[in-house]
Amino acid sequence: MALIVQKYGGTSVGSVDRIRNVAQRVAKYKAQGHQVVVVVSAMSGETNRLIALAKEMQPQPDPRELDVMISTGEQVTIALLAMALKDLGLKARSYTGWQVPIRTDNAFTKARIEDISDASMRTDLDSGHVVVVAGFQGVDGDNNITTLGRGGSDTTGVALAAALKADECQIYTDVDGVYTTDPRIVPEARRLKTITFEEMLEMASLGSKVLQIRSVEFAGKYKVKLRVLSSFEEEGDGTLITFEEDDNMEQAIISGIAFNRDEAKITIIGVPDKPGIAYQILGPIADANVDVDMIVQNVGHENTTDFTFTVHRNDFSRAMDIVKKIAGEIGAREVKGDDKIAKVSIVGVGMRSHVGIARNMFEALSKEGINIQMISTSEIKISVVVEDKYMELAVRILHQAFNLDKAA
Ligand code: ADP
Ligand code: ASP
Ligand code: MG
Repeated sequence: MALIVQKYGGTSVGSVDRIRNVAQRVAKYKAQGHQVVVVVSAMSGETNRLIALAKEMQPQPDPRELDVMISTGEQVTIALLAMALKDLGLKARSYTGWQVPIRTDNAFTKARIEDISDASMRTDLDSGHVVVVAGFQGVDGDNNITTLGRGGSDTTGVALAAALKADECQIYTDVDGVYTTDPRIVPEARRLKTITFEEMLEMASLGSKVLQIRSVEFAGKYKVKLRVLSSFEEEGDGTLITFEEDDNMEQAIISGIAFNRDEAKITIIGVPDKPGIAYQILGPIADANVDVDMIVQNVGHENTTDFTFTVHRNDFSRAMDIVKKIAGEIGAREVKGDDKIAKVSIVGVGMRSHVGIARNMFEALSKEGINIQMISTSEIKISVVVEDKYMELAVRILHQAFNLDKAA
């Protein structure tokens, strides 16, 4: 007997029929003698619908009330799934986040899980119930409802698996695993049988939305056995996230390509080249709770330099206002903003032991005449910023250039 946590995403619970299918799958695992905890997302499109509705009322919705509202999507699916399980003759019990409870901090719309009480769930499991938990939500120290950020049901799934010391956490979605890149952009993309935790962390942080980054962080911290699978296929091993690099002897140099259209770039031209400038610019940005991603400062000439950084597109206009003010104060010449950019990244632990990867990447991009605006690297990734209209082309040609369509 194993304890398994299964998480089903929005498309997988997108209709009553699909929820019935989920119930069938859960029943199969129960019949094999396993204990099952199921985490569900809202039905597909529901969270977007709720956010749009809130914005009709208030263009910048009050964060506390927004969380009260957008957490309702998941409350519907836990009830529907528990009904479907009961129809199959199983014992089942639904839980909202506060009923578990899943304790979080009080950062509305992007709360972090701090603690999960497993007592009630364990009692239910021990008496043969399927435990059905609403993804994406929790409760803060003052009993306010919180949500965990878009895609947060993945994190609920992995965090519950960690709290319950589950034998496996299965993330069921609309693709049958983690691919070399998003198969919607590159049809030749290949499913990876395994991907290392480090690579998955990079892929998620660089924009692959197949797993929310915090879920991968949890899996790493608590060594949760994590697998991504299709909810639309009966069989299949999906993709296993591994913690051992040498698990896969045939490790490719590059495992995957991630992309992100959610960034915008801000450049300050003619900044006086003296100590403390980066701090003077980025300090107020951080104070305004705006996350900065890439940063480039050029070599100075004639006592001035140019300073460029990227932020999330949602924060772009706020960041521009702040920077324009600072530019005046520090005597910079000009501020330029560009929200028509995209970041494309190649990821692979094999990069550590191979030279020339950056060269191959830049060569492939230059052959297509794609201009690289910014570059950033780590041990296992290279990211470039390009004009957003070239993003899909860049992903496709890099996929080809690194032979990702061919089995490793
Ligand atoms: P869910 O609603 O099940 O959480 P998501 O839409 O959040 O599903 O994530 C699954 C989607 O992630 C896929 O449909 C796919 O388009 C996208 N995706 C992006 N990058 C990848 C990748 N490398 N491998 C697989 N899917 C990816
Ligand atoms: N329903 C939430 C969202 O759409 C959480 C999730 O699906 O993971 O972002
Ligand atoms: Mg998701």
